[in-house]
Amino acid sequence: MENETEAAAQVINGQVEAHVISAAEDESKLVRDAVRKLPSHAVKELLSMGVCIRCIFRLIGVSECIYSCTSLSTSALSTALEKGMCLEGDMMDNGLRIQEDSNSQHSSEEPELEPNLCRICLGILQFTYHDGKEMLMKSDCANEFALLIAKVVKQEGHQIDSFSLEVSIPSRVMENEQAVWLYMKRKYNSELWFPEQLHSEFISAKDVLKLSITNPLETLLDIKSSLSSAFRIRLTYTDSAVKIKVQKSTEMKECNKRRKTGADDMDTIGGCVAAGTDHSNSCTGEEYVGRSCNGLHNHDFPDLSQFQLEKVSEPCRLTFLCHRNPVYIGGRYLKYSRNVSQTRWIIDDERMGEASVEEIIGSNILPIFHGDNYKFHAAGREDIDVRMLGSGRPFLLEIQNARHVPSEVSIKEMERKVNNLENKLVKVKNVKVVGSQGWNLMREGEAEKQKQYAALVWISRPLEDDDLKTLSSLEDMPILQKTPIRVLHRRSPLEREKIIHWMRIERIAGSSQYCLLHLCTQAGTYVKEFVHGDLGRTHPSVGSLLGCRAEILQLDVTDVKMDCF
Ligand SMILES: [Zn+2]
Repeated sequence: MENETEAAAQVINGQVEAHVISAAEDESKLVRDAVRKLPSHAVKELLSMGVCIRCIFRLIGVSECIYSCTSLSTSALSTALEKGMCLEGDMMDNGLRIQEDSNSQHSSEEPELEPNLCRICLGILQFTYHDGKEMLMKSDCANEFALLIAKVVKQEGHQIDSFSLEVSIPSRVMENEQAVWLYMKRKYNSELWFPEQLHSEFISAKDVLKLSITNPLETLLDIKSSLSSAFRIRLTYTDSAVKIKVQKSTEMKECNKRRKTGADDMDTIGGCVAAGTDHSNSCTGEEYVGRSCNGLHNHDFPDLSQFQLEKVSEPCRLTFLCHRNPVYIGGRYLKYSRNVSQTRWIIDDERMGEASVEEIIGSNILPIFHGDNYKFHAAGREDIDVRMLGSGRPFLLEIQNARHVPSEVSIKEMERKVNNLENKLVKVKNVKVVGSQGWNLMREGEAEKQKQYAALVWISRPLEDDDLKTLSSLEDMPILQKTPIRVLHRRSPLEREKIIHWMRIERIAGSSQYCLLHLCTQAGTYVKEFVHGDLGRTHPSVGSLLGCRAEILQLDVTDVKMDCF
């Protein structure tokens, strides 16, 4: 196992290397060309605000293809930008430099090239984050970051043929980018370089991240990305600052109170609220944060020179989640016991019956799919003391997060295994993977289905030949059923019309008062009540039709007429 993982890692590394070598040349040129066209004064301003290079590119309207330059590291981008900018305006002399000291204080006189944590994307587009163990992670390029994701996917052991990438990022990033975009529009839209499309939209941080890592993930996992894929890789970034904010909120309120009474009452500028993770900064009113409040409009910036972004001290926390949409397995089950419930039935910690159909089927199917869990659905249900015979009852097992979809052969093997269980309580047939439409098929069929029963009935007088004729002459007979007394505690009291399609009495040799009643009813008919009448709540009933008392002793479902499975 250890060796396999190592070998897999080597393959991954090899693939990345090959990819890097072939693409690096073209990508460097693409970046050099893009940088050459950038307006140096705007770039310089964004850098001085603490905005990362990928965010600068998208807010200045650099075209999409640049973000999928996967082999380009952040440092290579910095160098390209540095060189490009020097050609334009010799910005190094103005103090533009690569930041070395992570603790150095930001100031507008001394702009940094590539801040530690971007004040717009909070480090997300710098591939910087805290992992689940609070470790600070930083990848230099999209390939390196994708490698980490691919490892997680492979560890999960999913057998997949495509994937879809989902990214969730904190709302603070959207607020930041919206605020800076509006600021840029306000300040630069009259300048020649300002691209037309930026008037209406810019590429979101989420999309840039997807563009950056989709290609390397496709290479590493050797499958294509597809929006309709049932297998989802989900990246969830959560804002670490939210936690700090809650802690600080009380202090902040105190601080704001003081400020309102003081001369320097500047806690808001238009729509920009002074708030921050850095307590000292926001309290002294030195930093004004470009955050949108219920939609920020151009007129919300009375003074462009005051616009600043909140400093980011903590990267986001990132969690990876691999998830496959449910896999549905359809089939029919037979139940041979009068002491097995359909679903797990526990009352006050005590199990009713000796087992359940749900658990017998689920516990045997789940392992071959390597899923997390299962849900059992059936087309109707029978009572615990009613057997399910004949054609069986359609069921659907929903497997959650299956890592493996077994072959038809292994499903047949599993079917044999269930059918050969020693206790012989439950059997299954026609088991197969059915796709999510199986769900609709079962639900639609359920409403219209007919069910056939065999009931052991006792009547209060000897059975006569006329009784057999009376019942068999009735076809598609409507009956009215009030909600049975035995289920009144959990069902609302209603009166329903149901149809008894046909009935046939079979005599039992040597007995005059016991007989077998075969009948076919509309789905949802309470058969026990139809036999004994439920104190007149079901009418007519077998008892009322024969003019005597009728009791039901045992009931079997002998057929569930449905097209599915
Ligand atoms: Zn950024």
